[in-house]
Amino acid sequence: KKYSKEDVLKLANEYGVEYVHLQFSDIFGVMKNVSIPVEELNKALNNEIMFDGSSIDGFVRIEESDMYLRPDPDTFVIFPWRTNSGVEARLICDIYNYDGTPFEGDPRYVLKRNLEEAKKLGYQFNVGPECEFYLFLTDEKGNLTTITQDDASYFDMAPVDLGESARKEMVSTLKQLGFQIEASHHEVGPGQHEIDFKYDDALTTADNVMTFKMVVRIIAQKHGLHATFMPKPVFGIAGSGMHMNMSLTKDGKNAFYDPSDPIGLSKVCYNYIGGIIKHAKAMTAITNPIVNSYKRLVSGYEAPVNIAWSARNRSPLIRIPAKRGESTRIELRSPDPTSNPYLALAVALAAGLDGIKNNITPPPPVNANIYHMNKEELENLGIERLPGSLEEALNELEKDEVIKEALGDHVYTKFLEAKRAEWDEYKIYVTQWELDQYLSKF
Ligand code: GLN
Ligand code: MG
Ligand code: MG
Ligand code: MG
Repeated sequence: KKYSKEDVLKLANEYGVEYVHLQFSDIFGVMKNVSIPVEELNKALNNEIMFDGSSIDGFVRIEESDMYLRPDPDTFVIFPWRTNSGVEARLICDIYNYDGTPFEGDPRYVLKRNLEEAKKLGYQFNVGPECEFYLFLTDEKGNLTTITQDDASYFDMAPVDLGESARKEMVSTLKQLGFQIEASHHEVGPGQHEIDFKYDDALTTADNVMTFKMVVRIIAQKHGLHATFMPKPVFGIAGSGMHMNMSLTKDGKNAFYDPSDPIGLSKVCYNYIGGIIKHAKAMTAITNPIVNSYKRLVSGYEAPVNIAWSARNRSPLIRIPAKRGESTRIELRSPDPTSNPYLALAVALAAGLDGIKNNITPPPPVNANIYHMNKEELENLGIERLPGSLEEALNELEKDEVIKEALGDHVYTKFLEAKRAEWDEYKIYVTQWELDQYLSKF
C-alpha cells in the first residue's frame, strides 16, 4: 500500500488541488470519469460517491442503476498540466453495487478476481506493455485525417518534427505522473511511435495503460495532432500492437527461469505457454476486440497470424526475449491497444494458469519464419491460425469455458452481445474496396 486515505487528503491540500477526477473503465476499456470539487474528496474516499450505472456501456439496467465508486488511494496522482479550473488530480476507482458487493461488470474487478486465483497458487503476475500508436494531422476544419507529419521509420531520428517533439512531451509528462519510461522510439510506419514503460504488477500495469492512453491523446492534441490506437489505420503499412511481456514470480523469484533448462525456461513457463496456446483463439476476442483488429493480424507486418512460439523469431504469437534470470519473460504479441487492458490481462493470466494447473505441454518452438511457410508445412507442424475476423473470434470465445469463466457471466454476456452487434453492422456495410473491384466489372 502506497497511500492511506489521510495521505491523499493531505497531498490534495498541500498541492492546492481543486478538482478530482474519479476514473474507471467500462467493459470496452473506455475511460469514464466523474469529476468532483476537492470539498467532496473526503466523501469520495469514504466510498460515498454514487453514479448512474445504467448510462455506462455494458454495465446495468435502469432498475438497478445506483452504483458506488470506491477510489483506490494508491492511484492518486496530480496532473502535471494546468487547466482553467486550477490544479487537478485523479483517483482510479472500483465499482460497487448498492448492496456493498463488488460489481461483476467492473473490468478492474475481473482482473483482481483472476489475480486472486494466481495468488492461491503462490504467484504474482507481472506485466510490461509496449504500446504503439500513430500520430496523424487534422485538417483545417479540425477533421481527423490519416496523413502523417513525417516520413521517418524504425528508430529514425526525424529532423525535429511535430511527431518527435510531441513524443518527447508525452514521455516527460508520463514521468511526472510517476511512470518509469524504458524506451521511446519511432516505429516502422510513418508517424508511428512506441513508448515503453517499466513492468509492474498486472493491476498497476492495466491502470497505467489507461493513464498512458489518456496522456498520449491529450499531449498529441496540444501539438495539433491526433493520436490513434486503432490497430490498422492505414492499409499497407504497419499496424499498432500492444505487446505484453509477462512473467510470474513466486516468493519474490522469477518462476519462469530455470538455468538447468537448455533455453533457461522453467516447467511453469512451458506450462504457461501451453495454456496460452490452448486458449489463444478464444482470448483473441478480448485482446483484439474490434473489426479493424483483424486487419492488423496478417502476414508481413510483424503481427502474429499463427499460434506458435519461438525464442528467436518475431512472427509467432509468443516470443521469448533473450534476457534470462530475473528478467525471464514471455512476450505475447497479439494484443492491440484497443483491448481493455484489465480484461486482456485477466484472460492471458487465466489461460496461463490453466496450463500450469493442468500441466499442459506446449508444442515445440518454431524457429523458422512462419510467414514464409505454406499451408502444408503449417499443417505438418500442427500450427493453427488465430481467428481471421471478429466473428470467428467470437465463435471461439463462445466455446472456451476457461476464458468465459475468467471474464465472469456479466462481462462475457455483455461483451458478446455488443460485439455481435458490431460485427452485424460491419458485415452489411459496402466498402470502397468492393466498389473499386466490382462497380465497373459487373
Ligand atoms: N507493429 C507491430 C505489430 O503490429 C509490432 C512491431 C514491433 O514492435 N516489432 O504488432
Ligand atoms: Mg517494442
Ligand atoms: Mg514495437
Ligand atoms: Mg515487442
